[in-house]
Amino acid sequence: MVQSGRHFLQIPGPTNVPDRVLRAMAQPTIDHRGPGFAQLAQEIFQGLKQIFKTSGTIVIYPSSGTGAWEASLVNILSPGDKILMFETGFFATQWKNVAVRLGLDVEFVPGDWRSGVDPAVVETRLIEDPQKAIKAIAIVHNETSTGVTNRVPEIRKAMDRVGHSALLLVDTISSLASIDYRHDEWKVDVTVGCSQKGLMLPPGLGFNAISEKALARSKSAKLPKSYWDWEAMININRSGFFPFTPATNLLFGLRESLHMLMEEGLENVFARHDRLAEATRSAVRSWELELLCRKPEEYSSSLTAVLMPEGHNADAFRKLILEKFNMSLGNGLGKLAGKVFRIGHLGDFNDLMLAGTLSGIEMGLAMTNVPFSKGGVMAALDYLASH
Ligand SMILES: *Cc1c(COP(=O)(O)O)cnc(C)c1O
Repeated sequence: MVQSGRHFLQIPGPTNVPDRVLRAMAQPTIDHRGPGFAQLAQEIFQGLKQIFKTSGTIVIYPSSGTGAWEASLVNILSPGDKILMFETGFFATQWKNVAVRLGLDVEFVPGDWRSGVDPAVVETRLIEDPQKAIKAIAIVHNETSTGVTNRVPEIRKAMDRVGHSALLLVDTISSLASIDYRHDEWKVDVTVGCSQKGLMLPPGLGFNAISEKALARSKSAKLPKSYWDWEAMININRSGFFPFTPATNLLFGLRESLHMLMEEGLENVFARHDRLAEATRSAVRSWELELLCRKPEEYSSSLTAVLMPEGHNADAFRKLILEKFNMSLGNGLGKLAGKVFRIGHLGDFNDLMLAGTLSGIEMGLAMTNVPFSKGGVMAALDYLASH
């Protein structure tokens, strides 16, 4: 089918890649063992430290986010080690599955896929572990399947109150460079990130930001690893090189996206995401549809998951919107399949793009027999105009 005009990619990642980043990547690939490459790598490591808010070590893999998950586990844990994880949604479940396949002893605290990790539960569980069998706690900062953002600082405080030695692992794949995040200040031991969400790049780069404590732990970790081994990577990275061929052109793009984020200022980037997210929620409320996220203090600024009214299929609705308006919305993942649609509002995104997105949804609602109230777009525009 011929579709004129631009495609609206409103899934919560991969996100829209800005022209500046596309142009930066459209260059001949350079020798990754030459001096030009070392300079590029040094610039990127400096820039990434500001994004992760760390003065520590960062590792970059040519990989998806899933690879960076695996790296976060195999470098600090040994076979049979106990890890505490929380069922906040699809991505937390996927990360748990990686841990299970690696032979870890996973305690997976059940959740309702509508709310985040309760810091009080973390505290209680750690108090019940005086022998310190739990070696790590893994949290997904922003659950992209549900639009719920976990309160990492409160979870950190709960861990500190108990004085437990478990390492804290945080997946920031859909929050990094969109929602306030502080690796050092929150004493996170391994932060997992990747390229295709808030960093406005195509898929293909995975990150680990690593604390001193995690580095020390990695010296005695016994899970088998080769490609993901931090040590070889970190040693060679010091001189600006990689132990194997890096994703050079994605790194060209990353240098540009880091420039863009710094030009705007990270605080402004976060404020922009908060504002667009609140405008989106005004629309959803006006439509009298239900947000999947139950608690206002856990609302996500990078995406909004909306429950489809009972008896209506979210995928049929998304299909209609794709065909009629050339817009992709996020689908329901795992047990939410067909039940929710997700509006991505992260990355390279502004007021009029949101207005277009919400207009497509409101027209889609009008074309189906889904019960809703008109006026969501207007509510969002009113919010944007007055904030
Ligand atoms: C997208 C996403 C992932 C998965 O990343 P891949 O690149 O698809 O492997 C993991 N965690 C979260 C929170 C995500 O949003």
